[in-house]
Amino acid sequence: MNFSDSEIVASVMTSQGFDITEKQEEADIIFINTCSIREHAENRVINRLRELQHLRKNKPGLKLGVLGCMAERMKASLLEDEELGMRIDMVAGPDAYRQLPGLLDDIEGGQQAINVMLLADETYADISPVRYAAGGVSAFVSIMRGCENYCAYCVVPYTRGKERSREPGSIIDELRQLAEAGYREVTLLGQNVNSYKWRDNGSGNLVGFSDLISMAAEVDPGIRIRFATSHPRDISEELLHKMAEYPNICRAIHLPVQSGSNAILKKMNRKYTRESYLKKIEAIKRILPGCAISTDIIAGFCSETEMDHKQTISLMEEAGFDFSFMFKYSERPGTAAAKKFRDDVPEHEKTRRLNEIIQKQQEISLASNKKDIGKTFEVLVEGSSRRSKDNSMGRTSQNKVVVFPSVNFSTGEYVKVRIDSCTSATLKGKVV
Ligand code: SF4
Repeated sequence: MNFSDSEIVASVMTSQGFDITEKQEEADIIFINTCSIREHAENRVINRLRELQHLRKNKPGLKLGVLGCMAERMKASLLEDEELGMRIDMVAGPDAYRQLPGLLDDIEGGQQAINVMLLADETYADISPVRYAAGGVSAFVSIMRGCENYCAYCVVPYTRGKERSREPGSIIDELRQLAEAGYREVTLLGQNVNSYKWRDNGSGNLVGFSDLISMAAEVDPGIRIRFATSHPRDISEELLHKMAEYPNICRAIHLPVQSGSNAILKKMNRKYTRESYLKKIEAIKRILPGCAISTDIIAGFCSETEMDHKQTISLMEEAGFDFSFMFKYSERPGTAAAKKFRDDVPEHEKTRRLNEIIQKQQEISLASNKKDIGKTFEVLVEGSSRRSKDNSMGRTSQNKVVVFPSVNFSTGEYVKVRIDSCTSATLKGKVV
């Protein structure tokens, strides 16, 4: 989402006559687009801002701006030099990007400026993002913003505001432009794409996510459509059947489970149970055979016992996730968990549980990848393999990375690759 937002910021700035530079030494203003989801992410931002302060020695007029969730969470405290030990010139929340040129005018004379107002209707629908770093193959298209699920551990409802969906015509227009520009894969983005809804003022018809994704798939059968992220409570069989109708909707679903224990899920305010989650997994496997399923898992949430942790491990086995994003619980100020619960799982215990979860995922990913040996997949070529220029890399519809010997393939081309070996993270094969 931040990647996509940065492209909106680039569009706002270039439309006002600013240029983007790859070299920070050349910049007159540097924006850092930030994430607040974990303390670690915020610490990295502070470190980056400290590193950038030295550029001011050679360029005293250089301005530094903090954008995004951390700007929204910390607000004016980011402008207080004493607390941070450095100077920030501008703070702008995720709904203030249209105001950036005006804020720049405000800081021209050495003042500081802030806009962290959250808006109930801002979707940036009319802004065509500048694809300055997308590589020309894959693009993100934001279809909704905000979230009102209030999971106990999460800052997003506080930093990104109320859920709002973008007008579908502007989404389809953006997809058409991407198709014309040669893009081959688009990821529809939102905090909870399954609750996308737009009521057409003229006809009164309601457009839901299942309708939107079929409209997206019909723009160009040569463009793959992905989406992220789905809330397990909201993903519907209607959507799964719709996906089955279109071969260019990728066979990959990210369904964050967070925990395998009902007690912890309740405490997290996730609004589903282990049993109902596993029913959704069963429906995905039944309606979309061969669909990859990935997830997010938090280790060591407040009051999590060894038994709760074991239930997470057993759910991972039952679901058979192809891959997972796995983290230790990180308490975020202002969330329900920070206000109501004690962060009482000791750090060394969180680390041990996380390591067990990672090890289990590696076993499951390896077993899943081994099942792909001997199969042939359509792979979208993304470029050279990072390890060797002699190899190309791309992804299957299931979002698995495939490495194969290069033979004059162009980035953005679809090739058929027969898999002959694998690791837990990568499939390897040859073009057939
Ligand atoms: S669904 Fe929960 S975890 Fe996801 S963004 Fe919303 S509040 Fe955060």
